[in-house]
Amino acid sequence: MKKTHIAMINVSAYGHINPTLAVVSELVKRGYEVTYPTTEEFMPAIRESGGTPFLYHSKLSQLDHVKIIEDVKMRDKNVPIMILEEAISTFSQLEQLYKDDLPDLILFDFMALAGKLFAAKHGIDSVQLSSSYAQNEHLSIISNFPNEVIKELASMLEVFSEKEGIAGLSVQELLGSEKLNIAFLPRAFQPKGDTFDERFLFVGPSIGKRSYHESLYIDGNNDHPVMLISLGTIFNPWSEFYKMCMEAFRDSRWQVIMSIGTKINPETLGEIPNNFTVRQQVPQIEILPYTELFITHGGMNSTMEALNYGVPMVVIPQMFEQEITARRVTELGLGQHFLPNEVNAQVLQKSVQQVSTDKQLKKRVYDMQQKIQEAGGAKKAAEEIEKFLN
Ligand code: UDP
Repeated sequence: MKKTHIAMINVSAYGHINPTLAVVSELVKRGYEVTYPTTEEFMPAIRESGGTPFLYHSKLSQLDHVKIIEDVKMRDKNVPIMILEEAISTFSQLEQLYKDDLPDLILFDFMALAGKLFAAKHGIDSVQLSSSYAQNEHLSIISNFPNEVIKELASMLEVFSEKEGIAGLSVQELLGSEKLNIAFLPRAFQPKGDTFDERFLFVGPSIGKRSYHESLYIDGNNDHPVMLISLGTIFNPWSEFYKMCMEAFRDSRWQVIMSIGTKINPETLGEIPNNFTVRQQVPQIEILPYTELFITHGGMNSTMEALNYGVPMVVIPQMFEQEITARRVTELGLGQHFLPNEVNAQVLQKSVQQVSTDKQLKKRVYDMQQKIQEAGGAKKAAEEIEKFLN
């Protein structure tokens, strides 16, 4: 008998793909066929999850990365338009990939609007997965877009919908919620969490195996506690910051593991202190269980992964969504945060000292870890997707 076919539609970025992988594994375990269009870079990860990767080409990955990073940081009005353009260009590829075997259900990341458009055209049920905050009328990205952007999105959508024969999908609907929306954070971390109704499920972090990452030796010596430093995979080319970290923690008791991203060559950072291990990418999930303190950019995955392993944070956000998270971490007493222009070696030293020795703070981190365990993660997400299908 033919298996029920679920398609997972996503953008090609670690922060969006990582939390979906364990969900794919759970669905495959339950007997579903999960296909997952992606770019070359993510094919091994999707294969490892048990999903079937389909190759597609992303216009976004061919654009100038540094320019996109700047646009997003500046909340440039072109960003939402770029996201819709990417969706439209992905859409035609989905038409090709699925022309002989339409999926029975579509899961799509909140930024991968091609998934929603494809579901709308073919009348397929869809579930939104959110690798960031859930949104409703109390917390909405769209209400922050200037009118001119909404107008431009509406006119692009109208032209596209007419061409594809999609009836009456407004920009509000395109960016709005589904009958089932799954967010990879616990409700306790979501701002205005109690305003979200039963269509929203907060499952907490969804963490899968990542054996495609090269392992890293960690010395489990208590006199030299592990500090992890990372600005994630996108907004990370900030050499001065990494140099600042080396100045702050060279010759300290800390055993520092620093991920600097693939846009910087480690050799350009000068002499690396003996107590530092510097890599372009590190196996974060393997390191966090041994980590005492995490200096992070506050990406949703990194933040959730830290809390999942009970690790307090010093957050230095690099763009607006991370700034919300940075403030949330401080507000909930799970760490401290500083904006990029407030940070220097002394600030880092002092903050790390305070955060790593604060017993009350550590207790709050453990309480959040408990809530995360109760939220159910990938298993709970798969269970609800299965219920939705039936
Ligand atoms: N990550 C990793 N090794 C690194 C840097 C990042 O494994 O050296 C992973 C991290 O565990 C997380 C994802 O990449 O799952 C980054 O996502 P996040 O939402 O934190 O930030 P983004 O990269 O999207 O800004």
